Amino acid sequence: MCKSNKNVLYLILLIAKGGSHGDYFCHEPSCHYERKSGHSNFKSTMFNTMLYYFGDIADNLCDKVTVYLYYCGYNILIKQRGWESMSKILIIGGVAGGASAAARLRRLDEQAEIIMFERGEYISYANCGLPYYIGGVIQDKAALTLQTPKSFLSRFNVDVRVWSEVTAIDRQNKKVTVENKRTGEKYEESYDKLILSPGAEPAKPPVAGLDNDKVFTLRNIPDTYRIREHIENRKPKSAIVVGGGYIGIEMAESLHCAGLNVTVVELTDHVIAPLDYDMACDVHHHIAQKGVKLILNDGVKSIADNGGNLKVQLGKETIMADMVIMAVGVRPETKLAREAGLALNAKGSIIVDDKMQTSDPDIFAVGDAVEITDFVSGNKGFVPLAGPANKQGRIAADQICGIDSRYSGTQGTAVLKCFDMTVACTGLNEKAAKAAGIDYEKSFTYSASHASYYPGAVNMSVKVLFEKTTGKLIGAQLTGFEGVDKRCDVFATALRAGMTMDDLTKLELCYAPPFSSAKDPVNMAGFTAQNILTGKVKVFHWHDIEKLPRDGSVTLLDVRTQIEYENGHIDGFINIPVDQLRGQLDEMDKSKPVFVTCQVGLRGYIACRILSQNGFDCLNLSGGYRLYKSIFEESRPLPSPIGINSETQLPVKSEHILINACGLQCPGPVMKLSEAMKEAKDGDTIEISTTDPAFASDVEAWCRRTGNSFESLTSDKGIAKAIVKKGEAQAKCNLASDMDNKNIIVFSGDLDKAIASFIIANAAASMGRKVSMFFTFWGLNILRRPEKVKVKKDFISRMFGMMMPRGSKKLSISKMNMGGMGAKMIRMVMKNKNINSLEELIKSAMDSGVELVACSMSMDVMGITKEELIDGVHIGGAAAMLANAEESDMSLFI
Ligand code: FAD
Repeated sequence: MCKSNKNVLYLILLIAKGGSHGDYFCHEPSCHYERKSGHSNFKSTMFNTMLYYFGDIADNLCDKVTVYLYYCGYNILIKQRGWESMSKILIIGGVAGGASAAARLRRLDEQAEIIMFERGEYISYANCGLPYYIGGVIQDKAALTLQTPKSFLSRFNVDVRVWSEVTAIDRQNKKVTVENKRTGEKYEESYDKLILSPGAEPAKPPVAGLDNDKVFTLRNIPDTYRIREHIENRKPKSAIVVGGGYIGIEMAESLHCAGLNVTVVELTDHVIAPLDYDMACDVHHHIAQKGVKLILNDGVKSIADNGGNLKVQLGKETIMADMVIMAVGVRPETKLAREAGLALNAKGSIIVDDKMQTSDPDIFAVGDAVEITDFVSGNKGFVPLAGPANKQGRIAADQICGIDSRYSGTQGTAVLKCFDMTVACTGLNEKAAKAAGIDYEKSFTYSASHASYYPGAVNMSVKVLFEKTTGKLIGAQLTGFEGVDKRCDVFATALRAGMTMDDLTKLELCYAPPFSSAKDPVNMAGFTAQNILTGKVKVFHWHDIEKLPRDGSVTLLDVRTQIEYENGHIDGFINIPVDQLRGQLDEMDKSKPVFVTCQVGLRGYIACRILSQNGFDCLNLSGGYRLYKSIFEESRPLPSPIGINSETQLPVKSEHILINACGLQCPGPVMKLSEAMKEAKDGDTIEISTTDPAFASDVEAWCRRTGNSFESLTSDKGIAKAIVKKGEAQAKCNLASDMDNKNIIVFSGDLDKAIASFIIANAAASMGRKVSMFFTFWGLNILRRPEKVKVKKDFISRMFGMMMPRGSKKLSISKMNMGGMGAKMIRMVMKNKNINSLEELIKSAMDSGVELVACSMSMDVMGITKEELIDGVHIGGAAAMLANAEESDMSLFI
């Protein structure tokens, strides 16, 4: 603002071509030319000369000079020179948007008169931290208030008036009416410019009983103290949180932390509306596991005092609680703006342009009270978040001070702590993409937070939405633990930059084992989506599964290991582990489309590549069985309630055995558990910690099958801890029949096939099955001792012996052996991924009682003697093998 509108010169400098990078501030002390953005490709000396030249002429002519400098199309500098502010700026609302605007105004204009009105007692407080004070995570009350009127005055010279509600705006005379909330006194204050940042208030649905003193909403510090005092003084034991949005879930966690039994009631089919249903299911399970009850698809009809507690009538049931938190969303607080005649949209938000200017050019509005433009779709909307409010406050201040900052839209980037879980999203979800008419595809990935071999790696679910035609990222949703927020921020940045899936594959992100993997989860999401976009793989989704024909016209194929399949699979899917697929292609009908699933989508992709390159029409289930299970499995609390020390529940005389299986991959943890179970006596409990997500979901099934009792499963930051009691469940378990032995005939001497054989054998043994492995022909080489053994042989046998690999370490792989390089690489990969080596698998199989039988007839043919075989191998014939087969419910020929 200048003294008058006379003698104002707007100087526009156009520079088409620049020189080197450099600073370009004018160095004259009285000159306040400053840089606006980072395009500085021109010579500062040339720039300074120009500023002096034009500035001097302008100063002689005008009171005020504003210089707009354009360089290669960018408005890189705006400057007011000879500026003497006489402006009076009033701000309504003293928290996120209001305080941000006030501070920026002062930084830009030392002379302006700035008054900030706040109806309540506190300004610039941390609304986002309020739930954590209620739960006791934040202990210090003072930590919630970031600034006080006094500190704001001394730092920013802003006249902050708390307890001051602006009750009317007289736009004609540019005045507001202010009411002192403590004295009731009213007065008027004039303005040159006015900024509205009144925020949003908790929505109150038309429900009888909301005025009860045990029913609360949470918006500000007084609300927070009221809830905390109620908990401390009245000691409620149970609470209902109505609404499963961000605030509702944070409150549920906080009340749970404060020791209350909590129920969340949510009207729609899932919590956290910006997530899609499929991604919210992980959150539902996590909430339920923590012991919070979740009622979906139901709403509160009325609340009645029941003499001490509250009777809450839902649509389908009645529930009781000692207190209720209403968290059903917020609506813009715009009564003042409406009464002042400012343009509002149908939902009551103040309409602003990208300068945050309302329908009155002297009034700006920011924060939760305004209508936003969605960054991706361009649609108008309402996104009440602190980030946009703060940025808009700054833009309004810039505009008032002559800086042409613009708000480029909201993309809804948000993050939530839900107990141990982190939930984050940015951009559009499916509902919004459909509403915007965008032709999109989606992809699910499940990636480790950091290198899986480095301790503590946990998986995160990532869903990306992208335009089918361009591959452009339009939205991302993530749930998981460590590193979720970081990845969401990368997606948010990529989305702002208009990046495609192809661009995501190229991002070079931080990597060292404790932090990430060489292919970061963001890269992985890009690779997976790129495979879809380039036709490397076709996908189908969880919602297509029900419609798949089960009449034999298509092949439904699960390519996980047998143990994974047995622990749970999608109805109608048959099992051929991916490693055996090539050998069984002949048994499959090429004329039928193949729908493939695996655990998370990766092995399914590999299977699809094998199948499609062999002439099959193949589709992979995006997200795999894990996602399917998360969506269709019922949420239930973990058997041992959180907060109760599991150890205190243990029988006094029994032993409690601790096993750390963190870092091991499937079936490693199950094998460890199985080994420990053999040592344990009936009634002993085993507590096993693992980071293998498959184990967390499979341990219950394992117990059911082996007749042990599944006691509890807890999870903390992605590390699952299961407690299993030996033997107790024998009676109620549905134990397999006596004919459940496994018979494996190992004909091949290839390293990869040998590994697969022993993985299956170990897995079956860990489930308590009797396993017999019959080694014949080339398979015998797996059992040979590595060292040369002196035995008498004829010439042919000696030649055979020399040509064949001596022992497991000398085996080659069936494909891409590359003179032994392939075998070395596979061993290295297994080591990095914490998968046992073939030698370890053989030892553990033998330790688990797997019977290794060398075929006597083949030994004879190949000229191998008993002395040349490792210890513990029996010699047997085909008859023994067949007898075993008859007692088995599975015979494999590898
Ligand atoms: P507010 O910060 O609400 O400030 C508005 C102020 O204006 C109020 O103090 C009000 O008293 C005052 N006022 C209104 N009318 C008048 C009047 N006529 N005269 C004088 N004063 C008036 N966002 C996130 O991004 N992340 C989070 O984790 C997060 N957590 C949240 C947790 C809670 C419990 C709540 C309530 C909100 C949370 N939010 C979060 C939302 C975030 O706080 C808001 O988006 C942000 O504060 C909006 O800023 P604002 O300036 O528009 O409104």
